[in-house]
This record gives sequence, structure tokens and C-alpha cells, in this order.
Amino acid sequence: MSDVDLDSEQYQKHREAGEILATVREEAVDRIEVGASHLELVEHVEDRIRELGGQPAFPMNISIDEEAAHATPCIDDDSTFGEEMINIDIGVAVDGWLADSAITVDLSGNDELVEASAEALEAAIDTIEAGVDTALLGDIIGRTINGYGYNPVVNLTGHGLGHWEQHTTPNIPNRKVPQGTTLEVGDVVAIEPFATDGGGKVKEGSDEEIFALDQEKSIRDRQAREVLKQITDEFRTLPFATRWLDASRPKLALRRLKQQNIIHGYPVLKEQPGYYVSQKEHTVIVTEDGCEVTTR
Ligand code: MN
Ligand code: MN
Repeated sequence: MSDVDLDSEQYQKHREAGEILATVREEAVDRIEVGASHLELVEHVEDRIRELGGQPAFPMNISIDEEAAHATPCIDDDSTFGEEMINIDIGVAVDGWLADSAITVDLSGNDELVEASAEALEAAIDTIEAGVDTALLGDIIGRTINGYGYNPVVNLTGHGLGHWEQHTTPNIPNRKVPQGTTLEVGDVVAIEPFATDGGGKVKEGSDEEIFALDQEKSIRDRQAREVLKQITDEFRTLPFATRWLDASRPKLALRRLKQQNIIHGYPVLKEQPGYYVSQKEHTVIVTEDGCEVTTR
């Protein structure tokens, strides 16, 4: 038997983050319709997270059609939803303890692709217990998606969630990748199958609206220094969006911080144009004989 205490404060905060996430994710899904504004949606969700006692663990992602991850509205974004495949990804932190969950809302008429990633997620969740090999989870995810005639996106994976750390070990592959890793009681992991009618490998695009701190260093430029102070005070090592910054010219400051290797960006990840990507993600706490989904 494991001596991890799943009732400790740390796990209670993971659960609290998960509950907030489930609430705001439902509100988000209800607001998605043709003509609705991307910027209004993310602002609603991020404000509600704060109202409910959490903090956004990363900027809410809205990925459309071939986009898979890391897309979020810019400061004066005027995009609205069309008849598209819309993938929303939300993170919540409570005192740095995280929850991460995503869902695809399809207005494009590709329900089977949405079902493929959703069923892959449920099949993986049903298989998780202490001692399970991550290669088995990847195999189940990949085979479930292949069963629908689609491909898993193989260069995106699930991941552990650390304190103030959005991506830690272990990684959970979306196909059978033997890595000699098993899950243990108390592991908090995000499982996130992506399914596509494309080739199954995403590439970096040129847009970049999300950044995170790498290392603190002194910097001469006053604006850049102010932005760095906001990052270290509010976001620490969690990802943030350009539109969250108080500076009057945030883009210039971000460019300076990047040049000094103080922050790095997350370019939008996408399939080839003309293809679609669906995603479903939940955060789970691994138990002796199963798992507890914190983001239902
Ligand atoms: Mn996510
Ligand atoms: Mn994730």
C-alpha cells in the first residue's frame, strides 16, 4: 500500500481547481455559437475562474479547425466563431495546484472526429490505476482513434501537473510508446488525446500570444522590467497571454525579454490546412485501483 495521503491539503486544492474548471468549461460550451466573440468568451471564463477563487493556470486556448493548441485571442481580437471545429482548453490553479481540461465543440459537422478523442479519453481513464504503464495508455488511445478511421496527433502528449508547473513528467503518449514509465498513487496527470483526419503531426505556426518565464535576470529597459515584475508577481512559471499585461506597449517589452532568454513563447501548433483536430482532456488523481477525475 502507498503512504500518499490523498486527503492532504495539496490534493484538496487540486480538487477545488478541478471543480472550478468544470463549472467554467460548461459555461464556455454554452456560450459557443456562430457569431460569438472569441475575446468575450476567454474574458468571461478567466474572470469567472478568479471570481470562484482560482487563477487561470494558462490563457484559455481557442483552437479552430487545423489548430491543435496554444492559440489564444490577442489584445484587440475581433474574431468570431463560424461553422468550425472549436477546441477550448482551460487551466485553473488554486495556490499553484493545477487542473487542466479541454473539450471540442463542433459546429462543422464532424461529430465522429469529436467522438474519437472523447472515447479515447474515456478508454484511457477506465484503464488508469497504480502501476499502469504509460505505453498501455498510449496504445489504448491510439487504437481507439484509429478505430474511427482517424489518426492520433503523436507529437502532443498528456503530462504530469506540478506545483506552479503546467507540464511535468510523466508524459502520457497518444500512441504506444514504450518508455518504461508507470503511474503511481497520488500522481496528478492530464490525459489529452487529439484526433485528426490529417497526418497526425502538428507543426509550429508563426502566431505567438502565450509566453512563460524561463529565468529571472536583470534587464535595463524600463517597460521590460515592469512586465517582468508582473510576471514574477502574478504568473510565476505559469504561461500568460500578451493581453494580460498592464504595460502600455507589451509587445515590445516581450520581444526584449525573449531576446534576453528570460521568457519563451508558445507558437500555435497546427495540422496542415484543410484538416481538423479534436481534443478532449481531463485531469486525474491516480489511486490504488483506479483514478479520480477532478475536472468532470
Ligand atoms: Mn489542456
Ligand atoms: Mn494539458
